[in-house]
Amino acid sequence: MATFGNLSDRLAETFKNLRTKGKLSAADVDGTVREIRRALLDADVSLDVVKQFTAHVRERALGDEVNKALNPAQQVVQIVNDELVAILGGQQRRLQFAKNPPTVIMLAGLQGAGKTTLAGKLAKHLAKEGHTPMLVASDLQRPNAVNQLQVVGHQAGVPVFAPEPGNGVGDPVKVAKAGVEQARRAQHDVVIIDTAGRLGVDAEMMKQAANIRKATNPDEVLFVIDAMIGQDAVTTAKAFQEGVDFTGVVLSKLDGDARGGAALSVASVTGRPIIFASTGEGLDDFEAFHPDRMASRILD
Ligand code: GDP
Repeated sequence: MATFGNLSDRLAETFKNLRTKGKLSAADVDGTVREIRRALLDADVSLDVVKQFTAHVRERALGDEVNKALNPAQQVVQIVNDELVAILGGQQRRLQFAKNPPTVIMLAGLQGAGKTTLAGKLAKHLAKEGHTPMLVASDLQRPNAVNQLQVVGHQAGVPVFAPEPGNGVGDPVKVAKAGVEQARRAQHDVVIIDTAGRLGVDAEMMKQAANIRKATNPDEVLFVIDAMIGQDAVTTAKAFQEGVDFTGVVLSKLDGDARGGAALSVASVTGRPIIFASTGEGLDDFEAFHPDRMASRILD
């Protein structure tokens, strides 16, 4: 994955140096931990997460599991792998469905994060799994957003509920509510609500998103974050956590070649799981997120 190419290379180099050693001295461990720390910081992983990560690695690398290992270097790689899996959320977390349909999924995030595209991807993915999703256009901020959702809905082969006289033209909260009611009437088992973002965190946008959340009582609120936004990822994620209390994260644009590490911090900083990864502009460029697979890719 291009996003983590540089981090992968740096870690591989660190481990290569380690492999030339037999038993590891405390100085070897410290040197290795220092290199890992630098590689993570250079990849934009947040400082708090790096500190916690390297403290765990150091503690375990100095302990018996490495000391007694037949191949200490390999054991250190295993530890780094385990700790990466841990910061990425540990176990895979699947989408939660409502006991009584429709399952309501609300998307939140900054403008340009990839929400509208994700709405199409998710709808297509769910339709393939036998669900009957419907999209709701509650992003009334961006002039072209409703139209864009209609385009992705058409590509995904799923209906789109858009504002019309009678269901709250100009009022995203009313549109969202009317959309959920329409889905219930038409027996769609999943409703995906696209919401407005701004270029930066904005009090009014957050209030609107919070009001949509309150009005539609979603089963999942997915925070979509562009993996390329760098260090701002952590502050943005915290603002959205406070504003809309999201239940899961979607990392988008993982196909880019930015450093991406800040996005890796999001699960750890918010305690919310990463559920999906978005890896391109096409509707099929989308996958369920597996912390262990991502860690293996980074350490490949
Ligand atoms: P929104 O404002 O959050 O709804 O964002 P959009 O869905 O409109 O996406 C913003 C731009 O990013 C569009 O040009 C998308 O085609 C593009 N985009 C969305 N997801 C991805 C992705 O995973 N990879 C890449 N390379 N581009 C993406």
